[in-house]
Amino acid sequence: MLWKNWTGNQQSAPISVERPTTEEELVGIVRRAAASGERVKAVGSGHSFTGVALTDGHLIVLDKYSRIVSSDPSKGTVTVQAGIPLHRLNTELDVRGLAMENLGDIAYQTIAGAISTGTHGTGRLLGGLATQVIGLRLVAGDGSLIDCSAETEPALFHAARVGLGALGLISTVTLRCLPAFNLHAVEAPMPVDDVLGSLDETVDGNDHFEFFWFPHTNWALTKRNNRTDRPLFPRSRWREFRDDILVNNIAFGALCRLGRWRPSLIPPLLGKLPPPSGSEYVDKSYEVFVSPRLVRFYEMEYAIPREAAREAFNQVRRYIERSGLVITFPVEMRFAAGDDIPLSMAYGRDTCYIAVHVYQGTHYQQYFEAVEQIMNGYGGRPHWGKLHFQTAETLAARYPEWDRFQAVRARLDPAGRFSNPYLNRVLGPAAGG
Ligand SMILES: Cc1cc2nc3c(=O)[nH]c(=O)nc-3n(C[C@H](O)[C@H](O)[C@H](O)COP(=O)(O)OP(=O)(O)OC[C@H]3O[C@@H](n4cnc5c(N)ncnc54)[C@H](O)[C@@H]3O)c2cc1C
Repeated sequence: MLWKNWTGNQQSAPISVERPTTEEELVGIVRRAAASGERVKAVGSGHSFTGVALTDGHLIVLDKYSRIVSSDPSKGTVTVQAGIPLHRLNTELDVRGLAMENLGDIAYQTIAGAISTGTHGTGRLLGGLATQVIGLRLVAGDGSLIDCSAETEPALFHAARVGLGALGLISTVTLRCLPAFNLHAVEAPMPVDDVLGSLDETVDGNDHFEFFWFPHTNWALTKRNNRTDRPLFPRSRWREFRDDILVNNIAFGALCRLGRWRPSLIPPLLGKLPPPSGSEYVDKSYEVFVSPRLVRFYEMEYAIPREAAREAFNQVRRYIERSGLVITFPVEMRFAAGDDIPLSMAYGRDTCYIAVHVYQGTHYQQYFEAVEQIMNGYGGRPHWGKLHFQTAETLAARYPEWDRFQAVRARLDPAGRFSNPYLNRVLGPAAGG
C-alpha cells in the first residue's frame, strides 16, 4: 500500500494505515508500536512537499479524529482534535463568533499538520499559526499522554508548537482566537519596481500584505488585506469563480502545461498578456485569506530577515533573468513578526518569506538550488514542509535554540519512534533512532 502527498513527489509504504476515532485508540497505536519496536507517524492532509510526513511504520490518518472538543467564546479559546482541517475549523469558529488571527493561502491542511511545519500567512505584526497555540496534548514515544502550555511543561510547549512531528503525536490543540472579523481586500497589479520602491511603507501600512511577481514580466499582483468594520461586500459568485477558478486555476494550469511542453513560448506569451486584473471586496477574514489551489506544483520557501527582503528578491529576479530558465509560476513575498518558538522559521527576527514554485512534473533542482544559495547568504531558514537541500549540519547554527529542541526530542522520543529519513536529515538521527 502506498501513501502519497498532495503533489505526488513523496511516497511511502507504511506497515498499516490507522484511523483512530478516540484518544484511547491513538494512545493504543503508539503503545503497540513501542512494544513491537516499530515506527509510527501521524499525517495531516499531505500538503507538505518534503518527506516530513513519510513513514515505513504505522501511518495515522486523523480524519475521524477531527472535532471541536470545547470552546469558550468569552475567552476566545477553542480546543480541537488534531485532525481538524482548517477549512472546517474556520467555519466552526465562525459559528462561535471567533476567527483565526491569521492564515496561510489555503485551508486544506489539518491544524496539527499546519503548526508542525511552521505554516504562516502574511502580516508584519503577526506570527505563524503556531503562535496562536496556547496548549497541546501529546502522546510521547512510550505512549504516555502529556499536557503542555506556557505554565505546564513550558520547555515542551515551547518546542512542540513547531515540532515537525518529531516530538510526539499531537492529540488536541488549544488555540487563542479573535472575535470574528471582516477584511477589506484590495488586489491590484503594479509594476514590480514600484512595489519594491515602496515596500517598507506598504508592509507597515497594511495588516496583511503580500505580492506575487510573474517572472519574464514586470508585473506583480499585490494583495492588501485590512481589518474593517465595514459590512460584507463580497465578490459576486461569478467574479469569484472567474478569478479563483477560471483565471487562477484553469487558465493558469493551461499556461503551465504549455510551459512544460514548449518552454520557449512562455516569455513572449507572458509579454503580450495584460497584467492580472485587480479586485476590491469585503468578506469574512477566512474567506479572504484562503483560495482554492487546483494546479499542483513544487515549492521552496525561505525565511530571511525582513531588512534583506528587497535585496534578496532582486537577486532571485536577476538569477531568473540570466539563467535562461522559463518559470511559469510567480515568486511570492510575505512577511511575519519574529517569534520565540525554537524551530519556527521566524524565530527571533521580523521575517520576509520568499517562495518559488514550478509546475508539477517540471525539473526544479537547478532553480531551487540557485535560490537556496542566495538565501544562504542571508541566513535563510527553509520552510519545513517545502522543498530544500539543507541538513542538520547546515541548519543548526541558524536556530539559536536548536539544542533546547533536541533535548526535548531526546526526552519525548528517545527510541526514534517518530523518526523518518527526512527528520534524520534535517534534525539528525533521534537518540535511539
Ligand atoms: C497548495 C499549498 C499551499 C500552501 N500554502 C501555504 C501557506 O500559505 N503558508 C505556509 O506556511 N505553508 C503553506 N503550505 C505548506 C503546508 O501548510 C504545510 O506543509 C503543512 O504542514 C501541511 O499540513 P498538512 O495537514 O497537510 O500536514 P502534512 O503535510 O500531512 O504533515 C506535516 C507534518 O505534520 C505532522 N503531523 C500531522 N499531524 C500530526 C499530529 N497529530 N501529531 C504530530 N505530528 C503531526 C506530520 O507528521 C508531518 O511531520 C502549502 C502547501 C500546499 C500544497
